[in-house]
Amino acid sequence: MTDTKLNYIAGAWTKGISEIENRNPSDLSDLVGMFTQASPDDLQRTLDQARVAQAEWAAYGMERKQAVLMSIGNEMMERAEELGILLSREEGKPIAEGKGEVYRAGQFFTYYAAECLRQLGENADSVREGVEIDIRREPVGVVAVISPWNFPTATASWKIAPALCYGNAVVWKPANATPASAVALTEIIAKQDVPKGLFSLVMGSGGTIGQQMVESPKVDAISFTGSVPVGKGIAAAAIQNLTKVQMEMGSKNALAVMDDADLDLAVTLALGGAFGGTGQKCTASSRLVVHADIHDAFVEKLVAGAKAMKVGHGQSDGTQLGPVVSAQQLKENLAYVELGLSEGAELACGGVRLDMEHDGFYMSPGVFVNTNNDMRINREEMFAPLTCVIKVASYEEALAVVNDTNFGLTSGIVTQNLARATHFRRNARTGVVTVNLPTAGTDYHVPFGGRGDSSYGSREQGKAAAEFYTTVKTAYISAGTPL
Ligand code: NDP
Repeated sequence: MTDTKLNYIAGAWTKGISEIENRNPSDLSDLVGMFTQASPDDLQRTLDQARVAQAEWAAYGMERKQAVLMSIGNEMMERAEELGILLSREEGKPIAEGKGEVYRAGQFFTYYAAECLRQLGENADSVREGVEIDIRREPVGVVAVISPWNFPTATASWKIAPALCYGNAVVWKPANATPASAVALTEIIAKQDVPKGLFSLVMGSGGTIGQQMVESPKVDAISFTGSVPVGKGIAAAAIQNLTKVQMEMGSKNALAVMDDADLDLAVTLALGGAFGGTGQKCTASSRLVVHADIHDAFVEKLVAGAKAMKVGHGQSDGTQLGPVVSAQQLKENLAYVELGLSEGAELACGGVRLDMEHDGFYMSPGVFVNTNNDMRINREEMFAPLTCVIKVASYEEALAVVNDTNFGLTSGIVTQNLARATHFRRNARTGVVTVNLPTAGTDYHVPFGGRGDSSYGSREQGKAAAEFYTTVKTAYISAGTPL
């Protein structure tokens, strides 16, 4: 019998109206846990208490806030191994990736701990004589964080840490596919010296509790990461209350491989970018745009590399690719394989369901060749261990293909030609661009976000996060009676 994990509402662990079970996608016989689901009343209480707690928290001194964030970050980094295993158990990624994610999540907290002390404003002279202007940032208020399952701890942390840093209350709805990591992070935050209800965990499905959150006039700002259709629905709900909204919704990232590229480097970057996290990354290299002169040699090595990748149980030594997250995701991935074949693409390797020792959602990494950029497999986010090679005749054509997408999160080029690298860096229409590096993998102290359907609202991470989690106040001050 497993104890059901509870929501954390108004400073107390609280049972909801129903519960869900969470199983390990590497081995469905492994029950990760049972998790409660919030009621509409739970959500209302959470939002009401968050409003009270936020005012108290905003009045805390900078160093007190800093200490809280530092303590959360340090504990996450110290417990990265243990929490990484838990993350691996519920999401499926190999332990090394789970551990790396938890450690990185800790770094978001320590980074924003330092930012607590760096809240500088601006001042100016007025056009009116004897008047000075003080421009400062104040908290937005109550922030709803809605996070996905693919980076359950890191994505949530890069939203929660700046929200708290800048003086806001947080109400967090994690993805129902990964509640265990959410409870673990909440347990760490619940130990801190913060007002009751400043931070709440509200588990429940997106369609019920998530939808109620985004429709609530008690929410001042919503930070969301997930799919485009859900993002558009959230934006539509938010606008009814003029709630501030920020969304990151995935992409169709391209890695351009030029004829002058270091071939081995290009293959390594493509394999890591396409299949890291089992392809379930918003920054995944799902289009490989390859110059004709290097195409055949690149494809040969890429396919050999993909075939050699070890697919296995996320918690087994040597696993490079874990299972995909759910039965639904596996079904959609296999449907994309069928779609690609029906569109005329050729499957050079992989893309099939694998029967392994344990019952789980396994599939082999797949490489499509002979594809063109008009195919749906090159236009829709598959979120799968699948990548598509597109052959091009020139750098100019490569750049045009890279930019021919509704998305625009990341793009990369592999080249030894400085002029091309520079031109690409300046002309690729994405929020993140890489040169001789994978399209996936970003730092935490600089802005992250994209263009087109990839993102909406201001950038996340680094100092850029202040734009979303604060509101600007301009004060005019006169000395009154002149001396
Ligand atoms: P969703 O967009 O459905 O889920 C993302 C988050 O939003 C989850 O916490 C979900 O809750 C919540 N949510 C769902 N519906 C609503 C709603 N109406 N109101 C408020 N919150 C809601 O993504 P999926 O998990 O279904 O994945 C589907 C596809 O989305 C993937 O295949 C991929 O293409 C894309 N995706 C992109 C991500 C990225 O990093 N940009 C991350 C995850 C997915 P719950 O899960 O509990 O229902």
